[in-house]
Formats: sequence, C-alpha cells, structure tokens
Amino acid sequence: MVSKKVDQQWILKLEKGEEIVQSVTKFCIENEINLGSMTGIGAVDNAKIGFFDTKKQKYETKNLSEDYEITSLNGNISMKEGKPFLHLHITLANNEYNLLGGHLFEATVSATCEIFLSEITGIISRKLDPTTGLYLLDL
Ligand code: ZN
Repeated sequence: MVSKKVDQQWILKLEKGEEIVQSVTKFCIENEINLGSMTGIGAVDNAKIGFFDTKKQKYETKNLSEDYEITSLNGNISMKEGKPFLHLHITLANNEYNLLGGHLFEATVSATCEIFLSEITGIISRKLDPTTGLYLLDL
C-alpha cells in the first residue's frame, strides 16, 4: 500500500494481493487514526461478506471467489477494545453486472483499490450492546 496525506484526508492505493480490512486496520494503527470515514473503489477476486441475522444475533457469511468490481466500499473507523476498528460495507459487481453486497470481513485486491480516508480528530469507542449482540458506537 502506498499513501499520501492532504489536509485531514489520506489517499491510499492498495496493490494486487493485499487484503483490504487487515491492511487498512494496520495503516490506522501505525498512523494513530482512531476516528474517521472512508470510501473506496477498485477490484477484488476474493471476498468474505456477511449478513447479520438479528434473531440469531450472529453473522451469516458468504465467501466469494470470482473477479469483482468494487462498486462501493463505505465505512467508518472507531475504537474497539482499545484499537482502531473498521466497520465496512461493500457492494461488488460480477462479470454479468449483478451486485452482491454486505458487511465486509475480508477482500483481496486483484488490480487496485483506491481509498479516500477522512481522519477526524477525537476518539469514539464501541461497546457491546446486549439487545443486538453488536458492538455499537458508544456516543
Ligand atoms: Zn456491518
């Protein structure tokens, strides 16, 4: 990954073979980015996405292993258990232009991934919410 900072914005370019969630989390830890938002586009050839079943209070997951365009990658950065945590959602298009999407657990870049990350000064943490079983923003 290569990066450039302009004002409070980081522009990240991930390369083929890099896993998005792990790479950007590591980048946030190294650069002490504790709060922010991000958007991205690019292409992946492997992804694990999820759908939260509110009755079972757990994620159903799906592994994808074709070539996909990232038509939308959106999310935020907050703190969970003392470390920067990315909450990301993704929408992917396959070669028939059909879309798949959900909560992003992992995705491997096949060509490039261009991320614009807006850093916000401050800290907001997540706390386990017993009603949903999710770590929600603690505002
Ligand atoms: Zn989610």
